[in-house]
Amino acid sequence: MGLFRTGTVAGRAFIREFGWREGGKRILYGIREALKASSYSETPQSKDRMSSCERCQMYSKEFASCGEPTEFYLDADDNRKSLGCHCYLPLAVKAPSHDCWARVHDFPWGWPEKLRPLMKE
Ligand code: SF4
Repeated sequence: MGLFRTGTVAGRAFIREFGWREGGKRILYGIREALKASSYSETPQSKDRMSSCERCQMYSKEFASCGEPTEFYLDADDNRKSLGCHCYLPLAVKAPSHDCWARVHDFPWGWPEKLRPLMKE
């Protein structure tokens, strides 16, 4: 599944879940991150990250994304959050600073430590 379709589905979901103002901000952030990630080349690390994602229970085969781009949940403070980062992974895994959603949220699965970024942005 391509970036355009995944981005379109994710963008619609952001507008539906957060409204035009907040959803629009999230769409612009996603576009900025996708543009940044597209400037990086594939590396052994990015290939290993992608393999790890493809084996993960969060991976959406349909959208090649981390989580289904239409799935959200409410946290303990009633804030709406995306279930997974909703990133288009063939691009996101190439950004050295990108981290695994499961690991960031302390779930016991996701990328092995050696595939995580050394420094956060
Ligand atoms: S939780 Fe981590 S390993 Fe799983 S799909 Fe998302 S980024 Fe990939």
